[in-house]
Amino acid sequence: MYQDLLMLLPPRSVVFDEPMANHTTFKIGGPVDALVIPQSIYELKTTLEYCAAKQVPWLVFGAGSNLLVRDKGIRGVAIQITQLNSIQICGQKVYAEAGVMLSELAYAAASFNLSGLEFAEGIPGSLGGAIVMNAGAFDGEMGKVVSEVEAITPTGEHKVLSRSQVGFGYRQSVFQHNDYVVVAARLVLKDDEEPAIVARMKAYAARRWEKQPLEYPSAGSVFRRPPGHFVGPMIEALGMKGYSIGGAQVSTKHAGFIINNGGATAEDVLQLIALIQEKVADQYGINLQSEIRVLGEP
Ligand SMILES: Cc1cc2nc3c(=O)[nH]c(=O)nc-3n(C[C@H](O)[C@H](O)[C@H](O)COP(=O)(O)OP(=O)(O)OC[C@H]3O[C@@H](n4cnc5c(N)ncnc54)[C@H](O)[C@@H]3O)c2cc1C
Repeated sequence: MYQDLLMLLPPRSVVFDEPMANHTTFKIGGPVDALVIPQSIYELKTTLEYCAAKQVPWLVFGAGSNLLVRDKGIRGVAIQITQLNSIQICGQKVYAEAGVMLSELAYAAASFNLSGLEFAEGIPGSLGGAIVMNAGAFDGEMGKVVSEVEAITPTGEHKVLSRSQVGFGYRQSVFQHNDYVVVAARLVLKDDEEPAIVARMKAYAARRWEKQPLEYPSAGSVFRRPPGHFVGPMIEALGMKGYSIGGAQVSTKHAGFIINNGGATAEDVLQLIALIQEKVADQYGINLQSEIRVLGEP
């Protein structure tokens, strides 16, 4: 199916029946009918035009670090934008394409003596995904450093959104509620010295390794933080640390993470999420919301 994409795109940009487990940090997910990895904005637009003309369902993703793809996979076209990954730096201003990885961007900024992305270095996502999720850590978040976002609408129109138009909130942005593809962003950073910036990044990384189960596949914190509460300690108090369903396990290091302990299916993870939600609702009267985006055929 969708073999006619090869009449529009070079073979290196399209893979058919590709397991999404190969493209998510959870290492979980059934096959997508067609995975397009555009090498240029032209190829991205061509793919969107194809999907619109043929009424093919499509979605876009970055590093797959906040995704749980269901076991039956994805029907239609998944567009991974990680090959759109150039970075330009001039003074305190950074222009980067959405597919650049946050760690690379943070180190590139540091090498130009620019501070402001230290918090992002250990987040294993792309710039685009981080903008969509308003990713944050250690008192930093994307909304504090992004000044403008460039996006393409499903009809191929180019849009430039100011920071206020992006509507950054706690793990929120307007891009969670529209069909735009984020293609690039402008950031404004602050002057500092590279050694001091790198030292902060290393200190943050050490804290992550101490507290988070980075040695296992996961999609990071599973739940959004309810106001006034911390999810990890609540789950721990329920005695669920280490609790498993199939290959999915509540991390013994950080109960806010579910890890793939080997061979986990999306169904295992979804059942574990539902069980945690039920127990937290019973015990604390709080409805935990998933931060992880669940995609694919139910
Ligand atoms: C070990 C670990 C630690 C983590 N730590 C943190 C943390 O400290 N703070 C934090 O906030 N998050 C954290 N995360 C979660 C995740 O890394 C972030 O949410 C990250 O920003 C997601 O980026 P991504 O490129 O992987 O997005 P994906 O997972 O690929 O996609 C996330 C969502 O964004 C959409 N999307 C992605 N790219 C685009 C685009 N270009 N245009 C339009 N929509 C797009 C997708 O459709 C999906 O809905 C962690 C994850 C892991 C595995």
